[in-house]
Amino acid sequence: MTSIVPTRHLFGPGPCNPYPEATSALGLPLLGHLDPEFIARMDRVADGLRVLWGTRNARTLPLSATGSAGMEAAFVNTVTDGDVAVIAVNGLFGERMCEVASRVGAEVVRVDHEYGTPIDAERVAAAHPNPTVIAGVHAETSTGVVSDIAALGAIKGEALLITDAVTSIGGMPVHADDWGIDIGYAGTQKCIGVAPGLAPFTISDRAFERRIEKPSSWYLDLGLLGGYTTGATGGGRTYHHTAPVAMVASLEAGINRILAEGLDAVTERHQAAGKALQDGIQTMGLELFAQEGSRLPQLTTVKVPENVDSAKVRGYLLERFNIEIGGGVGQYANTVWRIGLMGPNANPGSVALILSSLKEAIDKA
Ligand SMILES: *Cc1c(COP(=O)(O)O)cnc(C)c1O
Repeated sequence: MTSIVPTRHLFGPGPCNPYPEATSALGLPLLGHLDPEFIARMDRVADGLRVLWGTRNARTLPLSATGSAGMEAAFVNTVTDGDVAVIAVNGLFGERMCEVASRVGAEVVRVDHEYGTPIDAERVAAAHPNPTVIAGVHAETSTGVVSDIAALGAIKGEALLITDAVTSIGGMPVHADDWGIDIGYAGTQKCIGVAPGLAPFTISDRAFERRIEKPSSWYLDLGLLGGYTTGATGGGRTYHHTAPVAMVASLEAGINRILAEGLDAVTERHQAAGKALQDGIQTMGLELFAQEGSRLPQLTTVKVPENVDSAKVRGYLLERFNIEIGGGVGQYANTVWRIGLMGPNANPGSVALILSSLKEAIDKA
């Protein structure tokens, strides 16, 4: 048995290959979680996240949790028994929002969209006259679709707008304040190019003031988390839980890497790589799944050709080339492939590698 897995090319919808700076930072000496050096690092991370989020929200921090826990934090702090949550569903992560919101007691009003199509803000607006929250996914990783979050912000009225930016942040523009996002959650493992495990989170003052006084989760209670990050309370840092100090150091390195390149340049790099991949896929005679005009550059969905065994192709890519791509979700499990070009993977070399190896896998698997 091999004891060391050779380096994978992670082109799936899950973690991407991290930026090398983020990987190196995992090896920095550990600091105590209340060490002044660590507190200063946490402040720098919060500042960097404000840039990535496009927000001035004081309460912007990396939750010590996955992206899904960020989703849970968004709902558990804003809705409770009987509150109405209007949720746009155009993929797996919209579905997950419905499940999370219903478990905290919300009355969920689903606005279903065909998979592969973007959110229609007019339909969301018409779904309920005065919801407590409206929620939608910016970049649906399950279908490869980008939606217009500013359009949701424009129709939200008195409702709070919850936005999933797990796959968009660090890869395409996010303007939380301009778009009217009240609560946003993200992840580190997609375009930010850091290992999975933290949830960059932001909440507006308006939303914080309206939060549930004593939510059913202790760990994700944003009122308690206030003292965990500076800028939120003005007071000193208090112990809430032991911060994952190594991951925060890695996140700082990832953010610095992105800001050094520049957000515009990072966006352009993702766009160029995604377009080259999507053009190449179509030139090979394959069809894309996501609707034209709403395709994410960082996550391409491809229809598996008739008479091709999806699992065999994915297995061939993994064994022969160390390349991971994703299958589809739900009813599309075997009929759609998902190819991520996130963070450092968004480059022309990755595109060439995927196109040539996918062609061979389809021919030979
Ligand atoms: C990956 C992802 C999540 C979940 O993040 P985890 O870290 O896996 O919990 C949520 N929403 C979207 C859009 C994602 O791509």
